[in-house]
Amino acid sequence: MEFEHQLEDEEVPVAVVGGGIVGPVMAYILGERGIRVHLYESRNKGLNGSLGRAINFSLSNRGIDALVRMGISDEVLKEAAPYYGRCIHLPNSGGKTKVEFYLGNEKKGAIHSINRRLLSELVLKRLEENPNVKIFYQHQLINIEHKNETLHFNVKGGEKGSNNKKSVKAKFIIGCDGFNSSVRKSILGSMSYYQQNILDEVYHELYLPPTQNGESALPYPDMFHIWQLGEVMMVGLPNKGNSFNIILYTPLSHSRNIKTPNDVLDFFRKTFPDVQKKIPQNQLIEDFFRKTPSRLNIMKCYPYHY
Ligand SMILES: Cc1cc2nc3c(=O)[nH]c(=O)nc-3n(C[C@H](O)[C@H](O)[C@H](O)COP(=O)(O)OP(=O)(O)OC[C@H]3O[C@@H](n4cnc5c(N)ncnc54)[C@H](O)[C@@H]3O)c2cc1C
Repeated sequence: MEFEHQLEDEEVPVAVVGGGIVGPVMAYILGERGIRVHLYESRNKGLNGSLGRAINFSLSNRGIDALVRMGISDEVLKEAAPYYGRCIHLPNSGGKTKVEFYLGNEKKGAIHSINRRLLSELVLKRLEENPNVKIFYQHQLINIEHKNETLHFNVKGGEKGSNNKKSVKAKFIIGCDGFNSSVRKSILGSMSYYQQNILDEVYHELYLPPTQNGESALPYPDMFHIWQLGEVMMVGLPNKGNSFNIILYTPLSHSRNIKTPNDVLDFFRKTFPDVQKKIPQNQLIEDFFRKTPSRLNIMKCYPYHY
């Protein structure tokens, strides 16, 4: 493919593509070692006033260790809700639950649940303070020409919303651009093994607000909640402030059969009646149809480098 992008004069020692969670941590650690890094992220800078309803991120000790290295573990944990085990909602039991702590029989060894966009913003904010790292937002990687180590970007947000092209040479490129990685696609031809299974399962993101008194609508607000009935499963991750973000996993065929607001209410009434009573109806319907449900995938590839 021919590119007529404007080529930057400067050659970048390390280009990190993707500013989700992994990219900023990687860029920060390299920057701390005195290595100059450019990080490219396709999203805009900032939260634009809204955290959205992204699936929560659960942080265990391993994740917290990375935040300690960046010096922001306290700031992040202040925004997170700890949970100490799981609360299993027994099917067809009239609301009975079974509680299991992760460690022994007490509140120890918490896992911390935090809004994914907020975590990403806190990590990026810290990265901005690192003098060896430059962050480029609205830079979407299109392709990499490996023979001359050149990355090609679409740069959004030009005049009247136009897109510009930009090309950058980099000695070392690290792909942290998530499941649909463009970096990975650029080395697909040189991989010795690649396998992707698209599962017959989708997930919907829902929200369970606190009660009118500001209390948790579920028993055990500091537990990971699980409901399962046949092939359908739902999990609830606590938020700070007594609400829960809920992920509903269903076979694709079940999800496709839910077409109208009444179908949504019927499905919940039959499958998870105790939850259905706790989520305001309008909100349940709105959340269910808000996004196209995402398919679950399993991808394996080797090697990870080129
Ligand atoms: C339903 C579900 C629940 C999960 N729950 C958890 C959990 O509780 N705890 C946990 O640890 N993990 C969880 N995971 C896994 C977790 O989401 C991933 O491991 C994690 O997001 C990977 O981080 P990342 O930074 O590599 O990628 P991402 O978080 O996907 O970030 C990739 C970044 O790259 C950017 N990007 C993408 N393409 C380009 C491009 N072409 N050019 C420039 N930028 C680009 C994106 O905008 C994004 O900011 C869950 C996953 C799913 C699907």
